Amino acid sequence: MANNALNRHTKIQKQQFANERQEIARLRELGAYPASFSMPLGIQFELTAKCNLKCKHCYNQSHPQNDDAMMLFDWQRTVSDIIAAGGIFQCIVSGGEPLMLGDNLFDIMTPLHNDGTSFILITNGWLVHEDIVNRLKRYRYYWTQVSIDHLHESEHDVFRGCTGSWQRAVNAAELFSAAGLPLRIAHSVTPDNLQYLEQFIDFAYLLGASSIVCGDVMLSGRVAENRNLLMNDEQRSRMYEIIDSSHTKYAGRLTVIASMSEQLSIESKNGLPNTSVIIRPNGDVRLDCTMPFVIGNVLQKPFPEIWKEYGNTCWQDERVKSYIANHCGNTQQINHYTPDTLLYPQP
Ligand code: SF4
Repeated sequence: MANNALNRHTKIQKQQFANERQEIARLRELGAYPASFSMPLGIQFELTAKCNLKCKHCYNQSHPQNDDAMMLFDWQRTVSDIIAAGGIFQCIVSGGEPLMLGDNLFDIMTPLHNDGTSFILITNGWLVHEDIVNRLKRYRYYWTQVSIDHLHESEHDVFRGCTGSWQRAVNAAELFSAAGLPLRIAHSVTPDNLQYLEQFIDFAYLLGASSIVCGDVMLSGRVAENRNLLMNDEQRSRMYEIIDSSHTKYAGRLTVIASMSEQLSIESKNGLPNTSVIIRPNGDVRLDCTMPFVIGNVLQKPFPEIWKEYGNTCWQDERVKSYIANHCGNTQQINHYTPDTLLYPQP
């Protein structure tokens, strides 16, 4: 009984996938949906492995001292290659903390913007100030995302490993919202902050957010050493109950979304034509953020060639299928490399 909301959400999300697949099958029959894509619809640019925060739940182990192999020149060349091959609709700009790139960030975004790409910007908010917001306003966004994990300043700061991070994130959210940028708050739900979730959603509304995405942390990166952050099914079910009631309460004013579990997220991509990938700070091109599989490296080969060779078929690789079968769910650590995660022949 206690897991009713969890079961209901899983059922709803699975039904959504089934509906999407049915619709894709229908469009395919009409010849209106391709069996493969000549370029991905969207690419996530993990622009840096550096971050000014040291969050307990960082799925990527981002850290101030991390090194990046990809320099500005490499990102610009990759952007040029992508545009020359037809361009992309969506670019997710993330890291680490993407605003640590300073002016270089805009040198990477501008050519894509001029080619018609729209962005999702993911930031911890620390480096956001009025001048930055005025520059960011020149681009098109699906949304700009600021992560805030607690209603209370001190708890957020401990969770994020940096005093002052809550205040900076709240300032960033207010600046984005005041500038008319579509603000999404990302909120990691843990056993500690679950009791405040309802109030936190009210807080996100007061910050001017147009959407809030709430979800539990993934067993990846630093969560492996902080497993106390993982909720049990009963707590997860309570989270879904609150998300449901808040979604109804704020209908038409604030979109309250549950983030998808990695298992469902992977299931949603598996078996369909691949539409997106991630380019990492070392140049690796990966299937997605929760899967460790690499299909090439843009420091060795232009992105369009990598996509052409492996982009469309990578989810059908037996190694990927076996990983999905054995690692999905919240009981085993995900996102770690093994000898089998390089899907392409090494030069
Ligand atoms: S702000 Fe994001 S990238 Fe930086 S340490 Fe935290 S979770 Fe990782």
